[in-house]
Amino acid sequence: MMVSFALHGVGVSGGIAIGRAQLVSHATLEVSHYTIPATKIEAEVARFTTAVEEVQQELEALHEAMTSGDVPGEFGAFLDVHWMILNDPTLSEVPKKIIIEQRCNAEWALTQQLSVLVEQFEQIEDAYLRERKSDIVQVGERVLKRLLGKPGTLPAAVAEEQTILVAHDLSPADVIQFKKHHYGAFLTDVGGATSHTAIVARSLNVPAVVATHNARQLIRDSEMLIVDGHAGVVVVNPDRAVLAEYRLKQSQLELERQKLKRLRGKPAETIDGHHIELHANIELPDDLAQTLENGATGVGLFRSEFLFLNRDGLPTEDEQFEAYRAVAEGMEGHPVTIRTFDLGADKHKEGLDGLARVAPNPALGLRAVRFCLAEPRLFITQLRAILRASHYGRIRILVPMLASSSEIDQTLALIEQAKESLREQGMPFNNEIEVGGMIEIPAAVIAMDAFTAKLDFLSIGTNDLIQYTLAVDRADEAVAHLYDPLHPAVVRLLAQAIATANKAKVPIAVCGEMAGEVALTRLLLGLGLRNFSMHPAHLLSVKQRVLTSEVAALKLLVDRVRRSDSPDKIATLVEKMNAL
Ligand code: PEP
Ligand code: MG
Repeated sequence: MMVSFALHGVGVSGGIAIGRAQLVSHATLEVSHYTIPATKIEAEVARFTTAVEEVQQELEALHEAMTSGDVPGEFGAFLDVHWMILNDPTLSEVPKKIIIEQRCNAEWALTQQLSVLVEQFEQIEDAYLRERKSDIVQVGERVLKRLLGKPGTLPAAVAEEQTILVAHDLSPADVIQFKKHHYGAFLTDVGGATSHTAIVARSLNVPAVVATHNARQLIRDSEMLIVDGHAGVVVVNPDRAVLAEYRLKQSQLELERQKLKRLRGKPAETIDGHHIELHANIELPDDLAQTLENGATGVGLFRSEFLFLNRDGLPTEDEQFEAYRAVAEGMEGHPVTIRTFDLGADKHKEGLDGLARVAPNPALGLRAVRFCLAEPRLFITQLRAILRASHYGRIRILVPMLASSSEIDQTLALIEQAKESLREQGMPFNNEIEVGGMIEIPAAVIAMDAFTAKLDFLSIGTNDLIQYTLAVDRADEAVAHLYDPLHPAVVRLLAQAIATANKAKVPIAVCGEMAGEVALTRLLLGLGLRNFSMHPAHLLSVKQRVLTSEVAALKLLVDRVRRSDSPDKIATLVEKMNAL
């Protein structure tokens, strides 16, 4: 008899999923398991052999580059070790046997063998040899990458929609991999509601629950799960009655979603005639389809740093240009706000993090524009790519994490430098391109005059603004209960930022997660906000709320919110606004 139980976490992406658990460990993250028909086994073995040969060539090329270049000697030793590991039959031959015996795909065979090897190495007493475990994983992952670049034929029977991934932790880079799949939901033991992992999860538009503490220990592979991404509840091995109840809820939600679709082409206007811009936050050019489907009138935040993750090396200027141009053209004349890359903190990029070193406290370290100003060559490459793409659509530049007037000056000077270099080469770009700044550090709100004087537009990143105002790490579930958008200090900073920008007639948006929370739409409207940017999946429900709101009627309650000294009182006032 299966034991039924429930787990509670933080629901970070709404909806209900019902399916089977698949436990995920890091090395096997991208690897699915499928059965290979008998007639295709030979081809599957050949696919594995080719991948190994390609990695052999890769290592040879590295070796050659090393002998001709100025590379430290220890790098050579490291390459030799990798070469030996790759050519050892335990890695290059055993997986072939597994493919044949288990009739499974090559990726699966390789990851299985990798876990066996890693386990063996963990038993070794000699510390030096034990450490070689990471070399094995690195070599294995090189082969895995080759295999994943040339996937075999997936049989149609794999129903990803009914697979619920259960992991201890996922990085934003891991989650972005899921965009290629259609998993039903996912759960993690750790994470905070506005961590980048949660944000990307929302962008996948599947239910997700983080901070479940020990889901990965308690749940077994293939167990039946119900995930309620709104309530943050996971039911493991539900009985029939519970299952029926959730199936009903699931179909009701689907019905509501269908109804909302009718609002797609309708302009977002309040009852008393205020026009509201509803823009989308995207991570990759592929997100455009969802953006247009949900009727966004612009991209308010393109988190360009995601172009830098999950790949070898850095994207070249041309690659970046193509990505930005695709978005600019895809949005057909609507504004596209490209945020210059915001790496560091929880979004790591190997190699780049080497440059930026791992800071003792990454959230307060060399992140975002600070990193760009410290590495101007990388920054100029990106700026040139954005400027070149600005010839093909309405592109705007948005700079993250600005804290001071001098950072604005340095950024504007680098933009000018990038423009000048394009001029010299005779490359077309929009000389009048608008440059905006993100307001996500309290200092930027308190001394906002430099921002309104020097920038064309502003966008409040509430995720970071809350983190820095309350000194609560947004990715740390241990302090997730202290992370509060309705803290009086947060609400007052928001009110001040919006009022200052409106008075100076500098357009201001909110692009943090608060903008996509229907329960907060009226509060933000009441504070004077007219431009919201959010994950595309929330656009239509926020539009529905805008259409039924009257800004003038919110005034009294908003005045009381501004004077209020407790989150609870503010929450009650917000509820009253929503009941109007
Ligand atoms: C924010 O901080 O609110 C924001 C929109 O940027 P990110 O979430 O990418 O840090
Ligand atoms: Mg931010």
